[in-house]
Amino acid sequence: MSRRTGSLNLKGRFMFWNKEIETASREDIEQLQSNRLKQCVKKVYENVPLYKTKFDEVGLKPEDISTVDDLTKIPFTVKDDLRDTYPFGMFAVPKKDVVRIHASSGTTGKPTVVGYTTKDLDMWSSVMARLCVAGGVSAHDTAQVAFGYGLFTGAFGLHYALEKIGVTVIPASSGNTEKQIMLMKDFGTTVLISTPSYALYISEVMAQMGIDPKRDLKLKYGLFGAEASTEEMRRELEERLGIVATENYGLSEIIGPGVSGECTDKCGMHINEDHFIVEIIDSVTGEVLPYGEEGEVVITAMSKEALPILRYKTKDISNLIPNKCSCGRTSMRMAKIKGRSDDMLVIRGVNVFPSQIETVLLKSQEVEPHYEIIVKRENWLDQLEVLVEIADTSLLENYSRLEDLQNRIKSEIRTILSIDANVKLVEPNTLKRFQGKAQRVTDLRDQ
Ligand SMILES: [Zn+2]
Repeated sequence: MSRRTGSLNLKGRFMFWNKEIETASREDIEQLQSNRLKQCVKKVYENVPLYKTKFDEVGLKPEDISTVDDLTKIPFTVKDDLRDTYPFGMFAVPKKDVVRIHASSGTTGKPTVVGYTTKDLDMWSSVMARLCVAGGVSAHDTAQVAFGYGLFTGAFGLHYALEKIGVTVIPASSGNTEKQIMLMKDFGTTVLISTPSYALYISEVMAQMGIDPKRDLKLKYGLFGAEASTEEMRRELEERLGIVATENYGLSEIIGPGVSGECTDKCGMHINEDHFIVEIIDSVTGEVLPYGEEGEVVITAMSKEALPILRYKTKDISNLIPNKCSCGRTSMRMAKIKGRSDDMLVIRGVNVFPSQIETVLLKSQEVEPHYEIIVKRENWLDQLEVLVEIADTSLLENYSRLEDLQNRIKSEIRTILSIDANVKLVEPNTLKRFQGKAQRVTDLRDQ
């Protein structure tokens, strides 16, 4: 079923990578999911001590799972399970069958380690190839991978998928931005692969170098991932770089990039449902929420050999979109990630996602999409401070216009969050830029 179909449209571009699976009926998908889930449950029960313990604790036997509807009987897996079994304790195959290791860097302590067999790597590049094709990429393209190559899954995940499609791949890695831009120009890069925040920085350096992407470069598509971003940020990137920007989603614990991604219609990320089952839960009660309701993303990766994972709690916040997409794909979609439950700030009792603040800031033409959020505690009261760069330095000479802009942003933040923020407008190019995942929030309340 994972055989490449590579259906072409009239212009000779791919429309689908695995048409059969990408346009499969719900019944066929659920049948496939059920079969794979059944096999997976049996395999992890026999080979992964952690799962045997989890199952035994709730009195669950592998034969109790026969369809996807039984999924809710299975206990959740959390990041600490991977940490507690560091490094290879959750692998379901002997170490000799593992051909690749990746790891995500933990801010504290040991990283989370994941492994792949040869078959896993092939599945990974297939699911990611589908998402690249959905995002507009074809064999005619030249793609520059500006993710860091290393233990991080981003670069390799895209790299092999792009090669599979027949794209000319430039493994530029992240950083060295002026050289990136030189390569883009000289090699005729048509697709940029990076985090949205790095793409933004690249566009800024282009402007400083006097390069107009629409005039001087051949960029057509941007496939962005590894961090959540807003619709406003997408528009900004599309406008600055002259591209169609899509977002894709994944995490190393599940596979890396390749879980889901947008088609060029940009209306939710198509899930590769034949390999990943996505549920949305209430993270407090653990209850599965109905389609459309926002909650924590939980993913089961049931076809992997080295590291199958059941009901993994991602801490990412999204909702499911079940109806068929205008692109012809029938797969369930996930809305853009609103944020991570980890990133959610509770300020004076109000839940605040940095993405909500980004939405307000990027609406204003007078400020740049560079900002910092600082939360501190003064006199036992939480204070929210938002620093944002102004677009035009001449504004600094006009105090009343500056004050007016500041008040406008303040009032919009108040409308959306119902709390007051201390908005500070700063000069262009004074806030930090990012070459990987952006780090825009500083919470000083514990200090
Ligand atoms: Zn679509």
